[in-house]
Amino acid sequence: MAGLVIVSHSHRLAEGVVELVPQVAGPTVPVAAAGGLDAEQIGTSPERILEAMRQVGEGDVLVLMDLGSALLSAEMALEFLAPEERQRIRLVAAPLVEGAVAAAAVLAAGGDVEGAVREAREALRPKLDHLGEAPAGATTVEPGGAEVVRVEVVLPNPAGLHARPAGQLVREAARFDARIWARNKRQPQRRASLASLNELALLDARQHDTLILEASGPQGREALEALAALVRAGFGEIDPPASPTPGGDQEAGLGPGGAAVAGAGPAPAEAPAPPAPGTVLEGVAVTPGVAWGRTVQRRRAQAWTPQGPDRPPEEEWARLEAALHQVAAELAALQAGADAAEAAAIFEAQALFLQDPMLLEPARRAVEAGQPAAVAWLEACRATAAAYRELANPLLRQRAADVEDVGQRVFRRLTGQAADPAGERLEPGTILVVDELWPSDVAWLRDQPVAAVCAAQGDRTSHAAILARSLAVPVIVGLGAAILQLPEGTPGAVDGLRGRFYVAPYDGTLQALAQRAAHWQALERRARNEAGQPAALRGGRRVVVAANVGTPEEAREAARLGAEGVGLFRTEVLFVGRPQLPDTAAQEALYRQVAQAVAPHPVVLRTLDVGGDKPLPQLAPAQEANPFLGVRGLRLTLQAPHVLEGQVRAALRVAADHPLRLLLPMVSTLDELLTVRRLVEGWREELQAEGVAVPPVALGIMVEVPSAALVAERLAPHADFFSLGTNDLTQYTLAADRGNPGVRHLADGLHPAVLRLIGQVVEAARVHRRPVAVCGELASDPEAIPILVGLGVDELSMVPQAIPTAKALIRQLEEAATRDLAREALALATAAEVRALARQFLDGLATKDGEGPGRPPGGD
Ligand code: PEP
Ligand code: MG
Repeated sequence: MAGLVIVSHSHRLAEGVVELVPQVAGPTVPVAAAGGLDAEQIGTSPERILEAMRQVGEGDVLVLMDLGSALLSAEMALEFLAPEERQRIRLVAAPLVEGAVAAAAVLAAGGDVEGAVREAREALRPKLDHLGEAPAGATTVEPGGAEVVRVEVVLPNPAGLHARPAGQLVREAARFDARIWARNKRQPQRRASLASLNELALLDARQHDTLILEASGPQGREALEALAALVRAGFGEIDPPASPTPGGDQEAGLGPGGAAVAGAGPAPAEAPAPPAPGTVLEGVAVTPGVAWGRTVQRRRAQAWTPQGPDRPPEEEWARLEAALHQVAAELAALQAGADAAEAAAIFEAQALFLQDPMLLEPARRAVEAGQPAAVAWLEACRATAAAYRELANPLLRQRAADVEDVGQRVFRRLTGQAADPAGERLEPGTILVVDELWPSDVAWLRDQPVAAVCAAQGDRTSHAAILARSLAVPVIVGLGAAILQLPEGTPGAVDGLRGRFYVAPYDGTLQALAQRAAHWQALERRARNEAGQPAALRGGRRVVVAANVGTPEEAREAARLGAEGVGLFRTEVLFVGRPQLPDTAAQEALYRQVAQAVAPHPVVLRTLDVGGDKPLPQLAPAQEANPFLGVRGLRLTLQAPHVLEGQVRAALRVAADHPLRLLLPMVSTLDELLTVRRLVEGWREELQAEGVAVPPVALGIMVEVPSAALVAERLAPHADFFSLGTNDLTQYTLAADRGNPGVRHLADGLHPAVLRLIGQVVEAARVHRRPVAVCGELASDPEAIPILVGLGVDELSMVPQAIPTAKALIRQLEEAATRDLAREALALATAAEVRALARQFLDGLATKDGEGPGRPPGGD
């Protein structure tokens, strides 16, 4: 049998390895130590090595060595041997301890010398994999001898590797003749096949996680190149679903009074008692509108008893395969009929579950063990859904609903139920109640005469919620488990503007709700008719209402809806999702289009604001543990001044012909502002010298970091204007991540702490006669508008669709009343108290004018 020689500079180390090897590989493999110059002195000796070679016998000898000169000594020892003896000695470049153990294990199991050498060389592999430390682009060898290529790539998507990008990876991987899998460097021991959407999603890869992609097979390299490019490009997700879009409430169709209601946490584990008549349940508004009717609860299949005699496993498996085909066709039809690309992508991603080994393999094992296919499949889906629910990433947790949805579709087929619950017809006026809303529910609901839909669980980021936005009835999710306790047929009213469900409402509540719906519609109509008029308070003070835009199309839409300029031009839209940064000429052309769209009104152009929730792979800072507290916004562009220069030069050229102001994001110190001021002035002078007549351009700062708000009086002499980024200011003031639904109830910009900061900025600006705008989501929130105006804000900038109603609301306000309102709000302790105060104020307006937003009495 072949033997091993352990060469080490240390006598004791070599002896230690010799002691260890039989413990792991058994006593059959001869192993000899050649350590130290002698038993005491560090070094290696050809004589001792030679002696050890002879000790292990007449067969082949593998020599494993530790540091540099050990190799020289071993080579010298070979020179003392006759040529035919040398043939049986192999010097092996392998880690000493792991290599010796791995080689001995192969030899002890009857493997040949080649196999032992290969294993010894690969012996670090499990450790590297476990720690996720194999070098990028490295090539290794699988136990079977196949070459494995590997690449590491950082995931830029704010929402992480959620279902749609994971689906893209699975589809892209399927184009290649290769076995491909991925790991998340944070937990490298978990390996996901790129044939399995679920395995991939369960890697729980978040933004900035490093994905390790590995492939073997004829097209392994090409596959990795294509896949890595896909990841680097962020899967083309310019507007990823997890990042809260500014004015997202408006996109969801909320009208006045429709701000997201705080306090809708996850459904409690224990079923609570049925809520009493008159109770108001609060959830998350998905689609607006007001409706009433009687509840009907839809329960999912929980258990199923097979009918008739057992079928053989092959027959059960064939039935499952047939059901999977049928459901694939159903999902393809839904995808083809979807009214938006986003909706189509949801069904496309669901279809991938039908081929997913993570569902099919356990189902197959269970069927082979004698289980009916329906039970085996449903169990596999439940286990996978449960794994999703365990994940930390709230967006990925929502994917549990997709797995269960597809699971249920296949289950229905297998158990002989209608393909879709289309056969079930709801009565007109039904309020459908579900535990969790699934995408197929929404597809089915399109043709049902329901009055409204309420779900106990769920969030605005769930696929079903995204699809539900196109339903014409109010939809609320996240109402909590209490709604499931309602007896069937309970009368209820649904306020999709505020995300509220009224249990058995009193007549007065119903009347108020009806009135409110009518008021809202009337206000909407009138607001649209008068959108082109300026907005002034009753006392005469003008409030500028401008638009937040990212593209020329949005700017044109904003102009149509009455925007008095662009208050926030998010220029990052031009940068994100492109392989290269745009050049100055391309930027100038785009900036000019935006300026022309709203001319003669001004454009406030914000310099690149990437990092945090808006990553830009080409400019990505080093991986950061807390990207929101890291190199983002102005901090990032100051580290890449060429980017800032290209952008400012392009903007200055446009400023030669249009009213344009520059706005700096994420300013937290005076130094940052002064540095940029110097740079901008230098570039302007250079342009003047080149013959471009650029007037001095106003330079303002976003106040979105509490430090900037707190020293606003010191910044004011150096900033030409302020724009309050309340989305970030809220997250930083309240320590509540703006993209995390788990802390959504905390991240309310109407918290008095945020309002006090806004008040301070307005005061500081007034002393230096600087205008103050608000450009975060708060600016379009009807409950916030009177308070912001009362605090003395000069401009509100918002999503274009919100402009008409915001203007209409401002026209109803009186200067003194808003000032009193703001003063009262500042003295309160919580956001909920401020919102209650604001609603009372809005009710007062409604009563006075007969057309304000209105509000149902009771329950508040
Ligand atoms: C804000 O933070 O309020 C803001 C307007 O900037 P963004 O949402 O683009 O970060
Ligand atoms: Mg911001």
